[in-house]
Amino acid sequence: MAGVHWSDFYLEQVRDVVPELADTPLYVRQDTEVDERHHVPHAIAFTSPICDLQLKPRVGQRWLGRGIGIGVTAEHWWSLPMQVRIGTLLHEVAHAITFFDSPWRRPEPELTVGERRVIDLGLRRWAELALNSLGEDSTSGKAVKEQTQPRDSAGSHGRDFIRCALHLQRRSRLPLETMDVFRESYRQPNPWACLNALSDELLADGDLLNVMKRPAPEAFLRLFSKPDEG
Ligand SMILES: [Zn+2]
Repeated sequence: MAGVHWSDFYLEQVRDVVPELADTPLYVRQDTEVDERHHVPHAIAFTSPICDLQLKPRVGQRWLGRGIGIGVTAEHWWSLPMQVRIGTLLHEVAHAITFFDSPWRRPEPELTVGERRVIDLGLRRWAELALNSLGEDSTSGKAVKEQTQPRDSAGSHGRDFIRCALHLQRRSRLPLETMDVFRESYRQPNPWACLNALSDELLADGDLLNVMKRPAPEAFLRLFSKPDEG
């Protein structure tokens, strides 16, 4: 039996907010625990659809199968107030829930040799590939580009992320800013307009994984439609 890990406390906090993840393994590791190619130094925390597999070598005996992997950058992490740390983790969990239908979430034996190579490239490279929608034509780059294209034009902090994060924020009762959901650089709609458009859904507070599979309310989707694009 593996002993207590520093992340256990945080996993408990996450599971309290999202009981729907009771059967989903959660792995949180700080960058100092993992190989350098998985460091994302500019981010306080990071995740991806394959972060669990990238952290796996350091999870060791605690590995319980595919789940949600989250890395944190020790240099930033330990100086943050506790509620910001928990808010940051919930931010990453909101990303992770939107990744649940990604082809990268398939069981390990189903992943191709090419996909395994992408995983081996490391988290930092993945982040670069996914964020920059790179123009290179290497097989791995192309695979990441095709399979990480966000479903809406606002990118990874777009409507699916916001919708999920607002559910987590409401449940956790953490101040909205501790979750860093809305930011100028994300080019999102007004936070209060988003909350207002989702209010019925937030109040109903259904099974989050099912809620996220259903289309969002029209009023919420309209906030993300850009009349100048067509
Ligand atoms: Zn984010």
